[in-house]
Amino acid sequence: MTSPIPFDLIVIGSGPAGQKAAIQGAKAGKQVALIEQTREVGGACVYQGTIPSKTLRESALQMVRFLQATEVFEFRMRDDVKITNLMTRLDRVVRAHGKFMKDQLTRNGIDCFHGRAGFVSDHEVRIQKIDGTAALVTAPIIIVATGSRPRVPDNIPIDHEHILDSDSILSLVYLPKSLTVLGGGVIASEYASIFALLGVYVTMVDTADRPLKFLDQELTDEFCEAFEKTGGHYRGGQKIATVQWDGCSKVTTVLESGETLESEKVLVALGRVSNLEHLHLQATGIQPTTRGLIPVNHHCQTTVPHIYAVGDVIGPPSLASCSMEQGRRAVCHALGLNPGVAPEHIPMGIYTIPEMSSVGLSEQEATAKYGGATVGRARFHEIARGQISGMTHGLLKMIADPKGEQLLGIHIVGEGATELIHIGQMGLLHNMPIDRFIDNIFNFPTLAETYRVAALDIAKQRQH
Ligand SMILES: Cc1cc2nc3c(=O)[nH]c(=O)nc-3n(C[C@H](O)[C@H](O)[C@H](O)COP(=O)(O)OP(=O)(O)OC[C@H]3O[C@@H](n4cnc5c(N)ncnc54)[C@H](O)[C@@H]3O)c2cc1C
Repeated sequence: MTSPIPFDLIVIGSGPAGQKAAIQGAKAGKQVALIEQTREVGGACVYQGTIPSKTLRESALQMVRFLQATEVFEFRMRDDVKITNLMTRLDRVVRAHGKFMKDQLTRNGIDCFHGRAGFVSDHEVRIQKIDGTAALVTAPIIIVATGSRPRVPDNIPIDHEHILDSDSILSLVYLPKSLTVLGGGVIASEYASIFALLGVYVTMVDTADRPLKFLDQELTDEFCEAFEKTGGHYRGGQKIATVQWDGCSKVTTVLESGETLESEKVLVALGRVSNLEHLHLQATGIQPTTRGLIPVNHHCQTTVPHIYAVGDVIGPPSLASCSMEQGRRAVCHALGLNPGVAPEHIPMGIYTIPEMSSVGLSEQEATAKYGGATVGRARFHEIARGQISGMTHGLLKMIADPKGEQLLGIHIVGEGATELIHIGQMGLLHNMPIDRFIDNIFNFPTLAETYRVAALDIAKQRQH
């Protein structure tokens, strides 16, 4: 190998975190090398995660709305419907997104290398290309954004055909008749509710007594009710002993209680692990945590000050939205640029059916911090738009201080939750008093009106 090619900034990984880091570097006038081991840029977000799962979700919702319009249409879903038929828009969505990203990188003069990156020293990175050749690059600042992949537990023989993970679930050809989902987190709950809505007999199994335990319980109660109405089942407080395909038609999941569950397919969604194994981090002196994450400070700076790590590789919240911002902020910090005020309130969007979203303090957190909380509620069925659109299953929960004056948090379950939440987020950012939501005029009929109804509910409690 010849002497290293010099750059101002090296970014490893082209997912949301790496991409935004590279763009920020280029916008600051730096010569940037972006290294991506796969043929395409975009990362898990575009090819295995966010975009494919949300496209399937959208198709499922559209199809079910159509099938439910029985007063107008008389249709039923074919028994042999293929997943690809449901994902007709996926290819278009992914290609459009991929092209947009590639063009953006080209426009900003970023040098893209397709190959696997590994550190040679704390300033040098070796790129092992697909054609067998290698290149060496060097820079004073390096950003690691190598993301994560599904965790594969030792006792579960994932074969990507009968026992699948979240990367392989969308390679299913036909919709299975039954699906056991192992896990109760975001990815497990999202896929479980999508497949249940599509008419698959879904059973979710997890150790926790309810799915998405980190969320406000009223939200998860609403989710469980809707999930069960579509024919889904949640089995909490269960540990998995073994999972085995019978070589013919079914997979048997044996629980530690001795109970067995049989299904055509199993989805394993038991967490994610950081992609560190090819990085040769030992060449830099960075020591991963016992959970296999790269430890960083609040600037996403590692123990080697000129090496930063951003996105899923540093662990929670492991969201595309946060990963992008971490990438941008890390590069600003490294280059001595002002990244702006650090986001205090990170919204959480969960694309289950129905959707859930929250920002700010939960009722329990507010109570612990202020010695109490006033809670206002607005149900979608009380709102004209909810009735008109048939979106009557939903709740907006507004959390205020004990006096019921200051907004502290918003929690929403129901279609549109991930969009609606941003009104509350802006309110929190500007320390909005509850009364602003009452004085304000909202378009009629909208779901946004739930903010006014919940604020009025708080004001009513103030008078007592
Ligand atoms: C099913 C699913 C649904 C999701 N839904 C949402 C959602 O709705 N909203 C949301 O905000 N987030 C969602 N996420 C999470 C989101 O996808 C991730 O948080 C996000 O992709 C993380 O971005 P990243 O840049 O850190 O890593 P990634 O997107 O994982 O990208 C990392 C890139 O680095 C490359 N790479 C790895 N090692 C090397 C190496 N040694 N050399 C070169 N390249 C390397 C990989 O090939 C990959 O392209 C979802 C995830 C999944 C799995």
